[in-house]
Amino acid sequence: MNLPLYKSIFGLKCPRCRKGNLFTRKGIIVYNDMLEMHDECPNCSLHYDLENGFWLGSLWTSYPIVILIEVPFLFAALFAEGYMIWVYFALMLLSFLITWPLMLRLGRSIWIHLNVSYKS
Ligand SMILES: [Zn+2]
Repeated sequence: MNLPLYKSIFGLKCPRCRKGNLFTRKGIIVYNDMLEMHDECPNCSLHYDLENGFWLGSLWTSYPIVILIEVPFLFAALFAEGYMIWVYFALMLLSFLITWPLMLRLGRSIWIHLNVSYKS
């Protein structure tokens, strides 16, 4: 049974076989060793670091996730008055700290899925 693309991305699976895990720890929000990855897929042996500096490109895919999470708080702060401005900024900072692993891990998963084709 083939794993759908979205499940492979959100499940942090290998883009080529969609079975092996990208990261050594499972789950999207993990605080310990959040960027510890396998050197290659445990299932199909795809080398994940495709070239030097490959993961720098994942900044392009994690940035939109940051925007989606943080911009609503920014706009709320812009249109708030009094102390509520600081409440929204605090919520923005808090949401960033909570979802930081999601942004990094999901950004890397999307990036490698954009660069490697699925082979059943
Ligand atoms: Zn694989």
